Amino acid sequence: MSIKPESSQNSESPIVDKEEFNTKVQNYYKAHSVHSKKLEWTKERIENVIKLLEDYSKNKFRGVRATNKQYHHAHKYDVIKTGNHKVLMLKRKDSLHPMLEMIPTEDYYQKILDAHLATGHGRRDKIVSTLRNKYMIPIFAIKIFLDLCRVCITHKNNFKPNAKSALVQKPMLANNFNQSGHINVLDFQSSPDEEYKWLMQYQDQTTKFSFLRPLKSKEAKEVGYEVLKIFLQIGCPHFLQSCGGIEFTMSVLREITTLWSACDVIQSEPIVPQEEESIETLKQDIKNMIQAWMVDNNSTNWSFGCYFVQFQMNSSYQLSTRNTPYKAVFGTDPRLGISTSLSENIEGHFQVEVKVEEDSEESDKNEEKDQLNNQNSKYGE
Ligand SMILES: [Zn+2]
Repeated sequence: MSIKPESSQNSESPIVDKEEFNTKVQNYYKAHSVHSKKLEWTKERIENVIKLLEDYSKNKFRGVRATNKQYHHAHKYDVIKTGNHKVLMLKRKDSLHPMLEMIPTEDYYQKILDAHLATGHGRRDKIVSTLRNKYMIPIFAIKIFLDLCRVCITHKNNFKPNAKSALVQKPMLANNFNQSGHINVLDFQSSPDEEYKWLMQYQDQTTKFSFLRPLKSKEAKEVGYEVLKIFLQIGCPHFLQSCGGIEFTMSVLREITTLWSACDVIQSEPIVPQEEESIETLKQDIKNMIQAWMVDNNSTNWSFGCYFVQFQMNSSYQLSTRNTPYKAVFGTDPRLGISTSLSENIEGHFQVEVKVEEDSEESDKNEEKDQLNNQNSKYGE
């Protein structure tokens, strides 16, 4: 595909009509304002927050007690001065997180245009990875922009992405961990484990690191409660998506923020049909792994077995990331491999005796297996 480079300054025939883009962005806000607490970040709103934070600093200096609103904002944002210009930044959780500038909606067009051209008419993921370490720009705005790009529309018919290669991503750095999370709820009603009839998977999109949790229902309340417990372990992602659609994701987020108001997560774009297929495959894989665990352990207690499957998933090499999820997060593979041989230690309702020190035979086996794994990953690459 050969596309001539356009100048972002070219106003004669822009690849995306600015007015049309802005209208669609406004329509999006109008359509979502009823259900969402997320307000549009206009220039005016950003200026107001900057003013509020400056007052907060002054008050603090004078020993004046801050208002709740000031505390709330000071917890979330920072003001940075660049020359005469003041910029509102999202407060970093730690020094590993990038400095993210709050961008007013009025500037979305130019920022997305620049990123789209800089990536050679890159699609959503490319634009997001170009922008995500600098600016806070919602994904829906990027999507609106892409749907309007004349060049992309023209080339769409000629562009048939290879489904497999489209899934392969560059190896990601661990500091992209927790950028975006995805919730899947799997139906186990046909093989309930006592009161557990559902299985939730929470997956970090970048590293593919997963958490599996047995559920009694698939209600947003219960899902939200379990997701919250995960967030309290690893922090909350910037974006959250679920296989239950926008309404469900929002209900889950509501449950979470009711219990943890400091949690600031953006409802992600709904799943597109191309993603749907890989999510269905993933869900089937999890079901197969749970099934295999039950057979291996001669047990139907999958509400416990799911934690072993979770560990297996996180310790397995992923073609899409060219890494194990565990290593992508922790920088090293887990020291103790888990295999079906573990089932020898598990009987009935899991009166597991943990014998770590004395098991020299077991560690020999593990060493062998580590070598095998190393070989496998070499072949994998
Ligand atoms: Zn384009």
